Amino acid sequence: MCIFCSIINHEIPSRVIYEDENVLSILDINPLSKGHTLVMPKKHVTDILDTDQETLDQVMHVTQKLAVEIMKKTNADGCNIVSNCKEAAGQSVDHLHFHIIPRYTGDTAISFHPLTETPDLEEIEKLLKD
Ligand code: AMP
Ligand code: ZN
Repeated sequence: MCIFCSIINHEIPSRVIYEDENVLSILDINPLSKGHTLVMPKKHVTDILDTDQETLDQVMHVTQKLAVEIMKKTNADGCNIVSNCKEAAGQSVDHLHFHIIPRYTGDTAISFHPLTETPDLEEIEKLLKD
């Protein structure tokens, strides 16, 4: 059974920040920063790649609204809004969710590490455009 479906069905406790007919938002149990929140559809879909437009719209709408509120309430300086797709990208729960991770100047919650050798961007541009 999917752990987020169990949370949605109130079989597992969670700290609910927002709930409506289609969307649930809870505090992440292992926060990367103060205010780290998850937003998920109540319908079980695996990830963004697998989601119908209506469900994605509902979740994105709430994610944007909550991100603005969380930024204000936590006095954060920025935020990362992230949705990991598949294990290789760090997805550990196969139920679509967006992380809202408030960021505070100087913190180290998330960082990107560019490749040391830049690939042939012209070749990649062609590949992705065609
Ligand atoms: P991801 O690795 O992108 O799939 O994110 C899954 C997130 O769910 C992680 O940040 C976990 O800390 C969080 N998580 C896992 N179990 C729970 C739970 N029972 N309640 C709240 N957050 C959870
Ligand atoms: Zn699920």
